Amino acid sequence: MTDIRFRSDIAVELVDHMGGDSSIVRAARVSSGTAGTPEKDRGLLNMLARDRHGSPFESVILQFRVEAPLFVAREWFRHRVSSFNETSGRYTVLEPEFYVPQGDRPLRQIGKPGAYRFQEGPYEQKVRVKAAHERVARWAWDEYTSMIEGGVAREVARDVLPLTTYTSFFWTVNLRSAMNFLSLRWAHEKSTVPTFPLHEIQQGAMKVEEHAQKVAPIAMEMFSKHGRVAP
Ligand SMILES: Cc1cc2nc3c(=O)[nH]c(=O)nc-3n(C[C@H](O)[C@H](O)[C@H](O)COP(=O)(O)OP(=O)(O)OC[C@H]3O[C@@H](n4cnc5c(N)ncnc54)[C@H](O)[C@@H]3O)c2cc1C
Repeated sequence: MTDIRFRSDIAVELVDHMGGDSSIVRAARVSSGTAGTPEKDRGLLNMLARDRHGSPFESVILQFRVEAPLFVAREWFRHRVSSFNETSGRYTVLEPEFYVPQGDRPLRQIGKPGAYRFQEGPYEQKVRVKAAHERVARWAWDEYTSMIEGGVAREVARDVLPLTTYTSFFWTVNLRSAMNFLSLRWAHEKSTVPTFPLHEIQQGAMKVEEHAQKVAPIAMEMFSKHGRVAP
């Protein structure tokens, strides 16, 4: 019997990047031809974020490797101003890795579409949800592997796998577009624009932001300072 793995995390690794705060400043200064000091550069980044002078933020490029269940990946892929390369279920046999909600994942949905609030849910519900995820994953994986062993093409056999199946992809995105992603996928306390993201994609967004902060710390500080709206 295959050793099925269950996990609940969204893994986000920064594999490469180009530029940082100084590249944004350099790109912006071409328009005025002025020279800067560290203090003036900080002021410039503040102004660019505040007044939504967005294009200089495109000078920073981030490339991530993400591991996430399919239901998270499909939301991530909606961010068109970026590039994706995903593991193929046609060319490779997929890994037996499936998402299962952790105990702290809110389970009860209250309110109306676009403005839901979530509550934790009772213990019995947690047990039921976890068992259902695990049962379906095991059943689907058995069918998947038995079809492949029986000579069925991988691209057909994979059809039975659930949305909880993990996939992995490379995501290449400039900082301006990453800020747009962060503004939509993290209901941050400093955000001036309301958003109601999926719990799991928000876990991924938090990790994206952690990496972006290391690459362009002042730009990310100004993004937060000015309401977490993409410039
Ligand atoms: C909480 C939440 C709920 C959602 N619910 C749904 C849902 O129920 N159904 C659903 O289908 N989607 C849903 N979405 C996806 C959403 O509609 C966007 O597709 C997704 O958030 C990507 O945002 P974006 O278009 O700003 O990003 P990108 O595609 O990266 O685009 C970045 C920016 O470029 C500009 N842009 C890109 N393409 C165009 C274009 N064709 N025309 C004009 N301007 C463009 C826009 O300014 C855009 O903000 C939801 C998103 C969130 C955050």
